[in-house]
Amino acid sequence: MTVDCDGKLHPQALEGIHLFNAGEFFEAHEALETAWRDEKGDIRDLYQGILQVAVCFLHITRGNYDGAVKVYGRSMKWLNDLPDVCREVQVAKLRNDADAVMDELRKLGRERINEFDSSLFRPVVLNEKREWTCDRCGARMHEKNCKVTCPNCGNRFDCSDLNIYFD
Ligand SMILES: [Zn+2]
Repeated sequence: MTVDCDGKLHPQALEGIHLFNAGEFFEAHEALETAWRDEKGDIRDLYQGILQVAVCFLHITRGNYDGAVKVYGRSMKWLNDLPDVCREVQVAKLRNDADAVMDELRKLGRERINEFDSSLFRPVVLNEKREWTCDRCGARMHEKNCKVTCPNCGNRFDCSDLNIYFD
């Protein structure tokens, strides 16, 4: 399966992610569902995956252990097949964060779900769209999944090589 991960997020998906990051999991679910209904093609998997993580977190905040476990399983069905970054969404990070949430939930168990530490609900992170200028010839460079290439002289680098200086 190849998902078209270039290009922009549906505006309602972006809205959904903002709501998700504000801890408004129910509203996030609704916005992502709108994006999912509106969009064509496999990119819907991305929206469905984030949506299910939102529902999973919502279940945890409402003390619904079995619901959270069930929906988490569904969310990973969508997210596992996606590249680590898709439409600028850091999918790998989302998978890891959701894993950490479930590890903690399983540790607490059904009885102590109310003690869940909500600081483990990490935000969905979007890569910044950056503009790249070729340091050899000054042309505007193209970026695709962190591979930056100059259409003029062929200069290329990987943007993740640069991130080490910012972290
Ligand atoms: Zn160049």
